[in-house]
Amino acid sequence: SICAIGKDVWDGKELEGVPEILDITQDDGPFEVISEGVILYFLHDHHLRLEVSKFYDENMLCQACVLPIYEGNFYVCMECEFILHETCAKAPRRIQHALHPHPLILEVSKRYTSNNVHHDVVHCDTCGRCSLGFAYRCRIGVCDFKLDVRCASISEPFYYEGHEHPMFLALGAGIKPICHVCKTKCLKPLNCIKCNFILCFKCATLPYKARYRHDTHFLTISCSEEVSEKEWCEVCERNLKDTCTKVFYWCNECYTTCHIECLIGRDPYMMPGQYFNKWVTTAQVLRKCNTSRPLCGSCKNHIMIYMI
Ligand SMILES: [Zn+2]
Ligand SMILES: [Zn+2]
Ligand SMILES: [Zn+2]
Ligand SMILES: [Zn+2]
Ligand SMILES: [Zn+2]
Ligand SMILES: [Zn+2]
Ligand SMILES: [Zn+2]
Ligand SMILES: [Zn+2]
Repeated sequence: SICAIGKDVWDGKELEGVPEILDITQDDGPFEVISEGVILYFLHDHHLRLEVSKFYDENMLCQACVLPIYEGNFYVCMECEFILHETCAKAPRRIQHALHPHPLILEVSKRYTSNNVHHDVVHCDTCGRCSLGFAYRCRIGVCDFKLDVRCASISEPFYYEGHEHPMFLALGAGIKPICHVCKTKCLKPLNCIKCNFILCFKCATLPYKARYRHDTHFLTISCSEEVSEKEWCEVCERNLKDTCTKVFYWCNECYTTCHIECLIGRDPYMMPGQYFNKWVTTAQVLRKCNTSRPLCGSCKNHIMIYMI
C-alpha cells in the first residue's frame, strides 16, 4: 500500500464521486481507416499509406519518435514528407502511465506560419531529452508533465540490449542514482533487481542500432567483453579505456566501436530540417551529412542548429 500511494502513482486527491473527465477507456483511436492500408491519423491532415520498409535510410525519421525506419511497416503521407512507424501510429491517444498519477494525452505542438511549420521543443520530464517529436502531456491544474513517446513505450519488465537481466521501474525513491551507462544522475531510474545495474531513461530509449558512415553494417548497443577489448572510439579517436562506461555502439563483424554520443550526437531527437523557436528567433535543425554546415562561433565545431 505504501507503493500504491507514492507521489508518482497517486496525487493525494480522493476521486470517489468525482466524474471522470479524462476517461482513458473512452479512447477514440488514433486514426480512422479510409480504405485498405490508408488511414487518417488524428495529428496529421493528409491520408497516410501503409508501406513495408525494404532498406534502411537514416534520413527517414518517424515524426512521433524521431527514430529511423529500420524494418517493418510504416505509414507515409500521400501528400507530404510525414512518416510514422506503424507501431507509433497505433500508440493510444490517451494513456495511464506508471510514471504519473494522471491520464496523459498524446500531443504535438506546432504552429503554421506563412512558409513553414514551427514545432515546439518538447523537454521530456522522464529522460530530460529535447525533441521535436510527439509527447504525452498532463495539463491537469499546474501539472504540465511531459513524457515523450519513446519513454512512454517503456514497460516492465524492460529488456535493455546492453544488459543481460530484465529491468524494472524504481518508484517512489526521491534519490537520483547515477546511471551505469552515461554516468549522470537519473531523472528516473530503471533497476536490475539481480545485480543492481541502474539505467536512466535517456539511455534506455537510445536507438538500439545506428549507422556509422565507414562501416557497411549496423552498429548495435553492446556491453560485451569483446567491446571492452577494443581500444579506440572510431569517431573521436579517444581511448575507450579512459571512458568509465562499458556500453558502446559496435559492429560485431568489423569490431568498429563508437561512443554513444559520438555516433548519434547530443540531441538525436531534434529532427533535421524542422523549424522551431529558440529564445526570440527561429532556428532550423541541420542534417549531420550537410558538410556545408558553418562552424560554431563559440566551440568551432560544425553547427547542428541554425538560427534564422
Ligand atoms: Zn516512431
Ligand atoms: Zn502530409
Ligand atoms: Zn523521455
Ligand atoms: Zn498530472
Ligand atoms: Zn544514462
Ligand atoms: Zn542485472
Ligand atoms: Zn568517441
Ligand atoms: Zn561492420
